[in-house]
Amino acid sequence: MIVLALGRGVYLRAYPDEARVETLFPDGRLVPGTREPTPENCAEAASQGYTPDADGCWRSLVEHEAMHNIVAPDLWPDGISAALAHEAGLPRTYRARLHEEAVVLSFQAWSNDLPIEPALRQYKSCLSRWIMGLGAVRRAMGWAPAEAA
Ligand SMILES: [Zn+2]
Repeated sequence: MIVLALGRGVYLRAYPDEARVETLFPDGRLVPGTREPTPENCAEAASQGYTPDADGCWRSLVEHEAMHNIVAPDLWPDGISAALAHEAGLPRTYRARLHEEAVVLSFQAWSNDLPIEPALRQYKSCLSRWIMGLGAVRRAMGWAPAEAA
């Protein structure tokens, strides 16, 4: 298990051998996540710039769940992911959840060198901060080299 601290007391637990994650909130609420390497999920991963295989599905899942938490402080006054809060049973509007999903998916594509999408344009000032957060996730997962000391 790899544990990623995502700020505000939120942690992502990644279980590479089981291809599943858990987002753990400070109040103990836990949101599980999986993405089976079905043809549909592989095509979805490929559309975000990942490889169209089980590894691409796994990486897209981990980065997706982490990014929900990394973008949340720039989207919402309480800094908590609307999508994950909704899944955890907390009151959030579907509209807020959809907005956040569009931002996260667009950010993932952009981080993989695909063109910037409309959902991301209003957050251009946040992109350098978000890419640093994603870089930390990629290093912790062993998908990017460790930073020089
Ligand atoms: Zn999502």
